[in-house]
Amino acid sequence: QTIGASLDATIAAHGDREALVDRAQGLRWTYAVFGAEVDRLAKALVATGLVKGDRVGIWAPNCAEWTVVQFATAKVGLILVNINPAYRSHELRYVLGQAGIRGLFSAQTFKASDYVSMIEEVRGDCPDLEHVWVIGQESWSELVAHAGEVSDERLQLVGSELSPSDAINIQYTSGTTGFPKGATLSHRNILNNGYLVGETCRYTEEDRICIPVPFYHCFGMVMGNLAATTHGACMVIPAPGFDPRLTLEATAEERCTSLYGVPTMFIAEWALPTFADHDLSSVRTGIMAGSPCPAELMKKLIAAGIDEMTIAYGMTETSPVSTQTHTDDDFDKKVGTVGQVTPHLEVKVVDPVTLEALPHGEPGELWTAGYSVMLGYWGQDDRTAEAIVDGWMRTGDLAVMDDAGFLQITGRIKDMVIRGGENIYPREIEEFLHTHPDILDAQVIGVPDEKYGEELAVWIRMREGAEPLTAEGVREFATGRLAHYKIPRHVRIVDEFPMTVTGKVRKVEMREITVTELG
Ligand code: ATP
Ligand code: MG
Repeated sequence: QTIGASLDATIAAHGDREALVDRAQGLRWTYAVFGAEVDRLAKALVATGLVKGDRVGIWAPNCAEWTVVQFATAKVGLILVNINPAYRSHELRYVLGQAGIRGLFSAQTFKASDYVSMIEEVRGDCPDLEHVWVIGQESWSELVAHAGEVSDERLQLVGSELSPSDAINIQYTSGTTGFPKGATLSHRNILNNGYLVGETCRYTEEDRICIPVPFYHCFGMVMGNLAATTHGACMVIPAPGFDPRLTLEATAEERCTSLYGVPTMFIAEWALPTFADHDLSSVRTGIMAGSPCPAELMKKLIAAGIDEMTIAYGMTETSPVSTQTHTDDDFDKKVGTVGQVTPHLEVKVVDPVTLEALPHGEPGELWTAGYSVMLGYWGQDDRTAEAIVDGWMRTGDLAVMDDAGFLQITGRIKDMVIRGGENIYPREIEEFLHTHPDILDAQVIGVPDEKYGEELAVWIRMREGAEPLTAEGVREFATGRLAHYKIPRHVRIVDEFPMTVTGKVRKVEMREITVTELG
């Protein structure tokens, strides 16, 4: 099936149910209205002369129109290129050129940044770029006005010429470990993944999903929008960008049944003095994913009544989800693992040197295979060949699998620290530090050291009002509970970590800062 056909089926079955709520714009659309908006834009795009396989970019924060663009482009076979709303002119120029974008949907401004003038700045360098449509402005209305030139039959004909294996989307990785890579994905890749994630969350048309994660990233557009539309559930957009208070308000007032976030978002919500004042009694399930999910945080959310909360693991290159926990898993698996492999996929843990599969219980690199593996990195065949081996995606993540197939992600290969010959997984130390009552969040990195090759440094965010910990204080807390070589030598107390727009901690940047500081 294609994404367009899947949406049409949902509209036919659930036309009168709410499809989308955009809180900032005060919009509420049923599936029938949403479908009409999508068809109108799809027809307008056909009228402009864009054809299957052409690239169309979107550079905007979360809003109702984002989802309309997502489904309208899919319906007519255009390849949607998701552009990070935090990008500025230099990065925009790169993406527009690299993906050969012919049409660009953009916001007018966001967070004091003037998107339109940045586009004007780079336009001369991007010969492929023929159209710019600013959401909610004249250029958008002018585009939509062309819808009348294309009949229902013509739109249907265009749809009937698409195949589920066509490329439909270029999604960029978060750029946690370097420059983001563009993963080319098909209808089959992301539609199936969105549907199966929704199955694990047991979504029906009664569900209302609060989506504070960015749409430009797979978490928002696949695990959010496609999981919702394949089940007739409602997408609730709390705000254009992430805001912890607005997220909790939207969840409570919209009676959401599901709440999404990367761990740093849940931590920010939890840290609000008003957390307990928000009525979250409607929330049944949700997904935490994107970076290591602290067990202590999961326990708190479950204790707060979200007892079907799940953890998912995946990456942009695999559409994204490969493993997810289930409601009926044992408590310790629900909080301490990323679950088991999801249907129709395979996983294995591989020795990074010999590339042989390892027995259960032994840590190694996680490889995944199946319908979800991307078509490739856009325009980077050499990188694709390095990343995909005989249909298996090399995740670059370290994992251990138990006898029942539950996986634990112990960290990224790039983040592993080797101190005096000992392999240290920062994740283990971070989990331990989360048990300290005054610590809000902790991130452990390796820095060069003359004596041991590498030494551990930790960045800590303290709870409001708590006395900042010193290196001595951390040592005291850890002594007798962690092996001596796992106790961080350098401690830095901060208010914030360097982050990606998807809410991930950029350890590369932390490492640079710490190394400079230590001299
Ligand atoms: P880049 O590839 O550009 O450096 P990135 O890998 O963070 O950035 P994404 O595709 O957004 O880009 O994220 C996938 C990665 O996120 C995974 O490879 C893994 O390291 C991490 N991740 C995702 N979910 C989890 C999870 N539940 N637990 C631990 N790590 C996770
Ligand atoms: Mg990655």
